[in-house]
Amino acid sequence: MTEKLYNDIEYNYKLIEERITEAAIKSGRARDEITFLAATKTVDAERINYAISLGLKYIGENKVQELLSKYDDYDLENASLQFIGHLQSNKVRQIVGKVDLIQSVDSVKLAKEISKQSLKNNVNSDVLVEVNIGEEESKSGIKAEQLYELLDEIKNFDNISVKGLMCIPPICDSPQKILKFFDKMNNIFIDISGKNIDNISMDILSMGMSADYYEAILSGANMVRVGSSLFGARDYK
Ligand SMILES: *Cc1c(COP(=O)(O)O)cnc(C)c1O
Repeated sequence: MTEKLYNDIEYNYKLIEERITEAAIKSGRARDEITFLAATKTVDAERINYAISLGLKYIGENKVQELLSKYDDYDLENASLQFIGHLQSNKVRQIVGKVDLIQSVDSVKLAKEISKQSLKNNVNSDVLVEVNIGEEESKSGIKAEQLYELLDEIKNFDNISVKGLMCIPPICDSPQKILKFFDKMNNIFIDISGKNIDNISMDILSMGMSADYYEAILSGANMVRVGSSLFGARDYK
């Protein structure tokens, strides 16, 4: 890895840290109440581990194959590995026990499979439910109106615990427009928290990416997933 790449990651890391701190304070919270997860798709383990050496503590992959190919090389002594992408039921067994959080549960079928594989491996899997907050056909995630039904099923499954919600809102041409979706998510998050459902805790609200993590924190996010602002533009080759 070239000197410049290292320097860029360090510079970006510090800048993101500063902005997260600023947004946390602005929203009446402390820096340590917000989790900074780096979205690491297409980024090699060397660069990921360099970010970890700077203090990064959470990383997230969004493809099972890519996660497995890098798995032995991540510095997992110093960071928590999570799954943030769309997950097919037939791939669940490949990651259960390897990741600390699956952020993208959006169907009873998927939750049931995570429960089954977790039971088999004698582990407990923490998950977030992904909400398709913009109700876009092209996106995964469950519609907000079906969320309670889904939680009502998952709460009875063994070896799986819901820890919160995640969303990827529609692409908006201004931060103001995206705030509407973040606020809607935060309201749902607060509503579910207040219901005290068994086995369902609302600890994590995962929303905000490179373009909008600042706004997301202002709207209540306590986990942001940042990729390109940290590692630079992705090279999909
Ligand atoms: C890639 C990705 C991100 C980060 O995207 P950037 O815009 O590069 O910050 C966040 N969440 C998920 C689920 C992703 O796949």
